[in-house]
Amino acid sequence: MTEKDESQLAAGPALMQTAAIRLKQAVPLMLKHRIPTTPTNYALWYAYVGEQQPALNRAIDETINQYQTCPPVTSELLYREHVADPLELDVRDMRQNLEAMVNELAHQLQDTNLDATAFQQKIDANFAKLGRIENEGFTLEQVLALVRNLVKESDAIRASTSYFTGQLSKAQQEIDALKTRLAESERDVLFDALTGCLNRRAFDADLAGMLSQAPDGTCLILCDVDHFKSFNDNYGHQLGDQVLKLVGRRLSDACRDGVKCYRYGGEEFALLVPASNLRIARQLAEALRRGIEKLTLKDRRKDERIDNISASFGVAQWQPKMDSRALIEAADKLMYEAKRLGRNRVMPISG
Ligand code: GH3
Ligand code: MG
Ligand code: MG
Repeated sequence: MTEKDESQLAAGPALMQTAAIRLKQAVPLMLKHRIPTTPTNYALWYAYVGEQQPALNRAIDETINQYQTCPPVTSELLYREHVADPLELDVRDMRQNLEAMVNELAHQLQDTNLDATAFQQKIDANFAKLGRIENEGFTLEQVLALVRNLVKESDAIRASTSYFTGQLSKAQQEIDALKTRLAESERDVLFDALTGCLNRRAFDADLAGMLSQAPDGTCLILCDVDHFKSFNDNYGHQLGDQVLKLVGRRLSDACRDGVKCYRYGGEEFALLVPASNLRIARQLAEALRRGIEKLTLKDRRKDERIDNISASFGVAQWQPKMDSRALIEAADKLMYEAKRLGRNRVMPISG
């Protein structure tokens, strides 16, 4: 186990505790102000009791003052403005929130178990009394009173259990919704929505990871679509998007042996090739270049076939002492060299 893993493990229970405490504070406030227990509201009130965002707290206080609750539309707007910047979405915090909810449920379950134990004791006492009927000659009135007691107590436990079952299924739905959102936000954090390729954030993290762990033979391929602006200008932005999707898919389809493809910027893509060499990475780039050259697309509005898609490539191999920036600069320089020499080519010329 690495030092990092150990420190995360050690921090885990403390973080869980904070999350559970915050949730315990948030839930009564939500009930008090008649806030529906939706995942959005949980997140909003969770942030409120955290008191890390004075502007959010002021806005909520003002809303409660005015309406004695927080109307759904206002909650949604506050959530979007203060809590849910998709890129900065704190996935870890949500996960803790989820765990804290499960904890909360476990407590409720315990309460129900306590009720059940008390009930069992009462039943036992009643049965003991029933047992004495024969010996001690209870009156019919006394027997009926005992039975009435039993019925009353079974009703109480039934109500408590069905309340809990209701809470459980409600919480289950909320947990499912949170899980879905968690998966979605994890996906949003790493993938580009248009092309489905990994995004720049993932690229930065992966490159830094590769260079710190096994930099030898790491190669970077930068790929920039040629005269991309002209697709937008001639056929519209939507068709431009279609071209990016096609190119992104072609590049991703070619990813094997640990090679990963990223959308690096607007019409620029990057591929990270681990433990390889310049010759192999160059060959891969050359194959990709030929693949992109063959792509075609139909423009429905003008009824034209678009078959002039191409891209320029720069390929660089990591050299000792290079950091991420130096490797990117090296590949970028070569990519621009490819543009300068007429585009639709891979630089360097040989590996
Ligand atoms: P070059 O061959 O020199 O690379 O020329 P280029 O036209 O490809 O490069 P330039 O940098 O001049 O233009 C890139 C254009 O890409 C500009 C920008 O409007 C467009 N763009 C960036 N992101 C997107 C996107 O997500 N969708 C669409 N449709 N266009 C985009
Ligand atoms: Mg560009
Ligand atoms: Mg371009």
